[in-house]
Amino acid sequence: MNVFAHRDGVLHAESVSLEAIAREFGTPCYVYSRAALENSFREFALACSGHDVLICYAMKANSNLAILDLFARLGAGFDIVSGGELARVIAAGGDPGKVVFSGVGKSEAEIRIALNAGILCFNVESEGELERLSQIAVAAKKVAPISLRVNPDVDAKTHPYISTGLKQNKFGIAHEDAPALYRRAASLPGIRVVGIDCHIGSQLTEIAPFLAALDRVLNLVDRLQRSGIHLEHIDLGGGVGIRYRNEEPPSLANYAKALFKRLGRRKVRVLFEPGRVLVGNAGLVLTRIEYVKQNESRNFAIVDAAMNDLMRPALYSAWHGIEAVRQRPGKARKYDIVGPICETGDFLGKNRMLAVESGDLLAIHSAGAYGMSMSSNYNSRPRAPEVLVDGDQVHLIREREQIADLFSGERLVPR
Ligand SMILES: *Cc1c(COP(=O)(O)O)cnc(C)c1O
Repeated sequence: MNVFAHRDGVLHAESVSLEAIAREFGTPCYVYSRAALENSFREFALACSGHDVLICYAMKANSNLAILDLFARLGAGFDIVSGGELARVIAAGGDPGKVVFSGVGKSEAEIRIALNAGILCFNVESEGELERLSQIAVAAKKVAPISLRVNPDVDAKTHPYISTGLKQNKFGIAHEDAPALYRRAASLPGIRVVGIDCHIGSQLTEIAPFLAALDRVLNLVDRLQRSGIHLEHIDLGGGVGIRYRNEEPPSLANYAKALFKRLGRRKVRVLFEPGRVLVGNAGLVLTRIEYVKQNESRNFAIVDAAMNDLMRPALYSAWHGIEAVRQRPGKARKYDIVGPICETGDFLGKNRMLAVESGDLLAIHSAGAYGMSMSSNYNSRPRAPEVLVDGDQVHLIREREQIADLFSGERLVPR
């Protein structure tokens, strides 16, 4: 289903023209499709049907409360990486009992809040964290449920910045160290061992690395079982890729089928932590061309969105599809689409064939994941609003930030 399609020459989100959205909410603006969000979650759930599964949406991909609420209503749990994200889950009405807490640097305060909220599991990434967690739990007269995040040392074959399962990465516990640390965990008074976890990277387009990681995890599961440590769940992390350009990621059905086949007859609950694949292609950035400018060698379309709104091109040289909202007759020319920020890295796309003029609207596709959630106020630019389209309805799910908000917490020093 294509939720973003041209109708009568104008690009629509579901049944709403993006020109109408630009008129009402201004640009730049994030636009999401409710149908696309819900379809991707349902597709994931369907791929897992018949198995005991909890899909914990990795909300760092997009943490807007409205999106969390939509997924919570469909039964999602959440994978969080900070106390701030837990607060968002609770504010959105999500169930803390379905939350797993990932991340290498959990602070004391974050651990305390998550313990009190009664989360499902801490995905522990170091011995220091395990000891700290036990101490805090004992002091609070609680027991912390944990998984160890093991680093399976497999190559996810993705961008180095989003590859996390190699020995040289900061994430997880080395495979060979895991059994001893599990024994230590089982002996600690504030700890209850419930699972094992791995996450090898993001935007994976092949199934093989997932299977290699699962094999490594199952090897540990079996060894732990023999030493009397029984796990209630296996958390296989996230990382399934999406199509930005011409990638061919596995379908969710094939991904899940391969993993469940490898799991065989084991009676164990399976957790997943998908982020990008649930939201990435459900959103776009709507932006207006401020100026069209030529120099000797290039044409530039200078737009009102920038790297602070969508950081992926600047950060990872990521490619996002870009098209004109209204198709113009006339000859297409090759443009670099750049923002107003004072950085050469401030581009959204390069060498794109477009027939456009200043004042035209552009859609930057596949921006639902790691778009708004990575945005900043660099150059004192207020963050864009977010709208959710549902059929012919448009809901404002985050207001445009006001300029005064940007410095409301700042103070002058006394004279
Ligand atoms: C980022 C992250 C995810 C989600 O990754 P996607 O590629 O967006 O699916 C899942 N688990 C952990 C621990 C993460 O850090």
